[in-house]
Amino acid sequence: MKKYDTIFLDRDGTLNPDPGYINSLDDFIFYDFTLEALKQLEIFGDNFCIVTNQSGVGRGIIKIDELSRINNYILDQFYVNKLPLLGIYYCTDHPDNATKYRKPGVGMFNKASIDNSIDLKRSIMIGDSISDIQPGVKLGMDTMLVLTGKGNESRSKLGEITPTYFAKNLLDGVKQIKGSDS
Ligand SMILES: [Mg+2]
Repeated sequence: MKKYDTIFLDRDGTLNPDPGYINSLDDFIFYDFTLEALKQLEIFGDNFCIVTNQSGVGRGIIKIDELSRINNYILDQFYVNKLPLLGIYYCTDHPDNATKYRKPGVGMFNKASIDNSIDLKRSIMIGDSISDIQPGVKLGMDTMLVLTGKGNESRSKLGEITPTYFAKNLLDGVKQIKGSDS
């Protein structure tokens, strides 16, 4: 059976609907399939790790305290559902002044890898944007484009980039990994 070291997850458009710059916990809600999908995905990885661009902070649209509240809620939901989450790595850079930490940069992945001794080449990145797939490919990871959020739009712009998997959504992603096995 396929077994990943770490399953990296994008947040907006992958775990939760993405109306754009969620700046209040009141506006954050997981997709109805997310927790079930994560429980099933857990079989295929030792850990989860969230990597998310939150330029809304850099743009002055999201207060850092509110992002922390959302992060705490997510951490709590993973804990309550016994889902092993290494951490939530977020990048608040404005795109005009982006560091290597803002996806498609690989900074958050490398930091997570050093912090937690993750073997990136034995890991997978799941997200709805090209900027989720690019760093995964660059780092030799498996990748999955989910067609929720910006997924459909991203799919039409992939060009030379080929994700390892396409999935309708995170729950369908479980089937895709299962189907590639054996
Ligand atoms: Mg996204």
